[in-house]
Amino acid sequence: MLLKKLMEAAVEENPDIPIALHLDHGNSLETVKKAIGIGFTSVMIDGSLKEDSKTPTTFEENVEVTCAVTDYSHPMGITVEGELGTLGGIEDGVGSGRVQLTDPDQAVEFVEKTRVDALAVAIGTSHGAYKFKAEPKLALHIVEEIHERLPELHMVMHGSSSVPQELVEIVNRYGGNMPNAKGVPMSEIQSVIPYGVRKVNIDSDGRIAVTGAIRKVFIETPEKFDPRDYMKPARAALAELVAQKMHDLGTAGSADTFKPQSLEDMKAFYREKGWI
Ligand SMILES: [Zn+2]
Repeated sequence: MLLKKLMEAAVEENPDIPIALHLDHGNSLETVKKAIGIGFTSVMIDGSLKEDSKTPTTFEENVEVTCAVTDYSHPMGITVEGELGTLGGIEDGVGSGRVQLTDPDQAVEFVEKTRVDALAVAIGTSHGAYKFKAEPKLALHIVEEIHERLPELHMVMHGSSSVPQELVEIVNRYGGNMPNAKGVPMSEIQSVIPYGVRKVNIDSDGRIAVTGAIRKVFIETPEKFDPRDYMKPARAALAELVAQKMHDLGTAGSADTFKPQSLEDMKAFYREKGWI
């Protein structure tokens, strides 16, 4: 209820910004139902993992749970993101810890069977700040192959923090300990945007920016103890990071260049397709 009211306030206070609220890594139909119940307008069902968010599923199990979610969500105009293949790394307890790259043939079959609006693909990215021991080798050709066969498909890249070394350095300079943290270079992400990548999930970079800013205050002004005070530079650091990412990914300033789709618009879209 608290979350619902916070979201409603954000929407009300920002009528000029088109806002969608998206559930990340939903682990079951039950979770999806709960999210939609409190006002989420878009959901992810991560059917690449079982309900425990750890054990990889079979292709058939993934299709089954994803279909259950699209069947439930589309009649309400709610868009659905699925996932095929598994990412490396573990985020908030989500992840099998091993990588299984997305197979382009399976991707075509998966999208046709499940009618997902967007597909998260596994191309070697990884959740968290310690993605890679050496320089990352991403299988970017997988995105190109899928795009060639499904040019309309919106693809999603999870685990795409770049772990900027200047932010890691701030954390370490002010008493942190993040040795060898490495991420996905922004240039690699930018290189696949023309091939249908429409959503890039970045979380760790924000965590590192916030942590660095808080650590700096603690070390430089140890007398401070009011979170309302020491959280200010942290919020500013996060805002700066998000602005930079939006700029780098080519989305900054484009809120008024497309027409937002309401849930009613999406219902009409699904009806036209004969999906509902
Ligand atoms: Zn993710």
